[in-house]
Amino acid sequence: MESEVLEWESPMFAEAVGQFDRVAKFIGLDENVAARLRTPQRSLVVTFPFRRDEYGEVDTLYGYRVQHVLTMGPTKGGIRYAPDVNLGEVAALAMLMTWKCSIVGLPFGGAKGGVRVVPQGLTRAEMQRVTRRYTAEIINFIGPSTDIPAPDLGTNEQVMAWLMDTYSQHVGHATPAVVTGKPPELGGSIARREATGRGVVSLLPSAAAHVGLEVDGARVAIHGFGNVGRYAAIAAAEIGCRVVAVSDISGGLYNPAGLPIAKVTEWVDSHGTLEGCPEGEPISNEEVFLVDCEILIPAAVGGVITDENAHDVTAKVVLEGANNPTTGAADVILDDRGVFLVPDILANAGGVTVSYFEWVQDLQNYFWSENEIVGRLREIMSRAFDDVLAVSEKRQVNMRTAALIKGIERVAQAKLVRGVYP
Ligand code: NAD
Repeated sequence: MESEVLEWESPMFAEAVGQFDRVAKFIGLDENVAARLRTPQRSLVVTFPFRRDEYGEVDTLYGYRVQHVLTMGPTKGGIRYAPDVNLGEVAALAMLMTWKCSIVGLPFGGAKGGVRVVPQGLTRAEMQRVTRRYTAEIINFIGPSTDIPAPDLGTNEQVMAWLMDTYSQHVGHATPAVVTGKPPELGGSIARREATGRGVVSLLPSAAAHVGLEVDGARVAIHGFGNVGRYAAIAAAEIGCRVVAVSDISGGLYNPAGLPIAKVTEWVDSHGTLEGCPEGEPISNEEVFLVDCEILIPAAVGGVITDENAHDVTAKVVLEGANNPTTGAADVILDDRGVFLVPDILANAGGVTVSYFEWVQDLQNYFWSENEIVGRLREIMSRAFDDVLAVSEKRQVNMRTAALIKGIERVAQAKLVRGVYP
């Protein structure tokens, strides 16, 4: 059916499917399985009223939750609040979550959700009302054994606490395992907050070794200074790298001698953004990708490394902390230029890995020590990196294709052995 219009159609969904199709062809994937994996299994679109603090102002908001594949266990994936969230974006990200969970060997399929709203201007009370009403709208779609949300762009531990509370009020008992990335007081895991950024940087030494770079003194540029970017900066500085540039929505900060990350973090905590921070020279967000550095960590939004700037990226290694930061065209350019890119579905899998630990701890009501969590995270990340590198070398493909091969093959195998119902 050539004229068929799919509800998820969007440039980002087309890119995710294009990537999948290339790999499916390359590995000779069973076409029936490929057809099932090409579209999300379940998609929910909701609209709901949102009363602003100004009592008379009521907006209609759009919310989404997509579950890509339910074969592997419950689905897992973040919830984002951003002005451009749409079904196509959420569906693409849900698919990427499936491959990500599969690469690190978690018993989850991928999901993603979001609300189309500008989170920056919302008061605490407004944020809470958006979260509680969105949760109520998707309540029959989520649950500890069906679909477990987590934080993403524009959402945080507090949002997860409201989500957990709303769900628990509806079912009549506390249900911590319905969401991960909660505050530790509610059954959140120690080290979840730092997990994604630290997980990204846990791969830095192996990636650097692969291209013959010294970690000590290596210059790192980080786009985004939220949950992922900030902890990536802290972890990079801890292992002896020089973080020369960081940025957030207000712009960037550059210091070729290395930014004092503790002071920059303090500034952001007290001022909200990097704007005006005296620890470096102000630069634009675009310049963060172009400063002289060995390692580049995009850790903010998608689609930022493009065919317009990829030629001028100076880094030898790109670790994708954000989801989908590199466009398909830029990917080819970086690859041709010999840049070693560790893709999002591998590099930022530390977040979902510790989310998995959190879910397991909540279900068992038994909590692990920080050492156990950090140790297990490192072990899983480093095994996944080695596995993907081995596929890349064996099949002579780049790390993104290798990661997709590893992710897709496990899910496809599971689908084949489960068979078709009825
Ligand atoms: P966050 O909201 O905590 O931080 C986002 C950061 O990006 C902030 O510093 C913000 O100012 C900046 N930013 C927003 N829009 C920008 C723009 N247009 N240009 C430049 N900077 C901008 O979000 P986060 O949780 O750190 O997530 C960042 C990325 O990492 C997202 O792509 C997300 O999907 C991905 N990710 C997050 C996690 C997690 O555990 N939080 C896990 C895996 C992947």
